[in-house]
Amino acid sequence: MAQVEARQNGGTSAAFIGRHAIVVGAGVAGLAAAGALSAYFERVTVLERDGAFSGTVPRSGASQGWHAHGLLVGGQLALSELYPGIGQDFLAAGAVPMRVNQDLREEYPGRDPVPQRDFGLHGYTMTRPLIESTLRRRALQRGNIVICQNSAVRQLEVDRNGRVSAVYRTTMDGDTVEKLSADLVVDASGRGQLTLDLLQSIGHPQPRETKIGIDLCYSTAIVAMPENAPNDWKLVLTQPDIPHSYRRAVMLPIEGGRWMLTVAGRGCERPPVEWDALLKFLQGLSTPTIYNAVRRSEPIGRLARFLLPENVWRHFEGLDTMPDGVIPIGDAICRFNPVYGQGMSVAAKEAVLLHHLLGARASQSDPLCGLGREFLAETRLLIETPWSMAAVPDFAYPDTRGDRPADLERSLQFAAALSRLAVRDASVQRLAIEVWHMLKPRSAYRDPELIRRVEAEMAAA
Ligand SMILES: Cc1cc2nc3c(=O)[nH]c(=O)nc-3n(C[C@H](O)[C@H](O)[C@H](O)COP(=O)(O)OP(=O)(O)OC[C@H]3O[C@@H](n4cnc5c(N)ncnc54)[C@H](O)[C@@H]3O)c2cc1C
Repeated sequence: MAQVEARQNGGTSAAFIGRHAIVVGAGVAGLAAAGALSAYFERVTVLERDGAFSGTVPRSGASQGWHAHGLLVGGQLALSELYPGIGQDFLAAGAVPMRVNQDLREEYPGRDPVPQRDFGLHGYTMTRPLIESTLRRRALQRGNIVICQNSAVRQLEVDRNGRVSAVYRTTMDGDTVEKLSADLVVDASGRGQLTLDLLQSIGHPQPRETKIGIDLCYSTAIVAMPENAPNDWKLVLTQPDIPHSYRRAVMLPIEGGRWMLTVAGRGCERPPVEWDALLKFLQGLSTPTIYNAVRRSEPIGRLARFLLPENVWRHFEGLDTMPDGVIPIGDAICRFNPVYGQGMSVAAKEAVLLHHLLGARASQSDPLCGLGREFLAETRLLIETPWSMAAVPDFAYPDTRGDRPADLERSLQFAAALSRLAVRDASVQRLAIEVWHMLKPRSAYRDPELIRRVEAEMAAA
């Protein structure tokens, strides 16, 4: 595709590489992707199936928004790269600033809480609607991004060169079907179904899927933060007694002086959605901090529930052929177990990757040729660390479905020994936090000296 016209970017003139990009879905992945595309396309249209978004109440298309959504520091930095200064916008909208790990009380059964050391890393806690509404505001400020609500995309279309060149959308009444042409379509619809249907319709194979069955159940309540709230932590993470219990909870401060309490369980440990029953359930957590903090509170509004059967990684990167003109992103590629708080951050990092690839290709004669394949190949590296961080502890539970890694037992022992070492050694804790927050890949644990120390810790256990 030829470069189409001059654009202004930070005072320097460059060329757009396409006239129109369409993003399907105005979730976190879609809004982050729109930020990545807007520098390289004259127009970016985000098509969202849901109706109007209040900005404060979760939408039906993203009902997970009723539950705790932690944004890792790596995800926050990625969003800041796409929308510079967005951290200040979160703050101005009511987000709570967080020092990692000084403000976090992380508790494990049978041992002292993780030391609350300050590593100079900063984040924010807030509701998912606040994250989305801030991203939407920043996207719309760009001038060349529009977000169309009540726009359900039914199908992607390829042209005679086999390149995706249009989408069909229906409007709210469901009767009107409209064809919209685009140079690039980003599938941020959360399920990837549009891309999967496209591959099927043109006779391409479907991607292999890795699944980890967890049958996770979430219950969430919001309570007003009491005046005598503890001042030695802002956020509490109560870890389960692996592999005997999956019962865990996170309580984080959100805008409006409230706490959001999300409790997770599996199997016979399903957290209830009635407040009194949930309080009883909290007494069975491995530590009493959260129960003690909320036992005299009343919930604001109804409690919410979410069921998540499995983590899914669709290996689009493994396909021999992938049509040009379409890129799946975010949950459309990989849906993680949410207890590890990774999905939004991975989506934001993928959008940054897209931004970099577009920049690197901008001067080529056909910058979009092979873009999807290159993007998907690189997402594998991005996803590997969070996927294995979530998969390894989940496989400690016998009822988790999926192919267990051959070295599972050693990986579990390694993780446990690393976390014990981190209590004593601040540099090890910093590294573990940097990997958790997606600031460093998991390969950072391959340092020979670190391996020697962790193995000594394993032997001493
Ligand atoms: C219970 C729960 C808790 C979670 N907690 C965390 C957390 O703590 N931290 C974290 O980082 N992540 C968390 N996640 C994951 C996080 O919500 C997602 O990974 C992240 O939002 C990226 O999702 P997405 O934008 O790809 O998809 P989604 O958020 O699913 O958005 C997809 C959008 O596409 C729209 N759409 C779908 N089909 C169409 C169509 N055909 N046409 C037009 N629009 C369409 C939908 O309406 C929706 O708005 C959690 C998830 C769950 C389920």
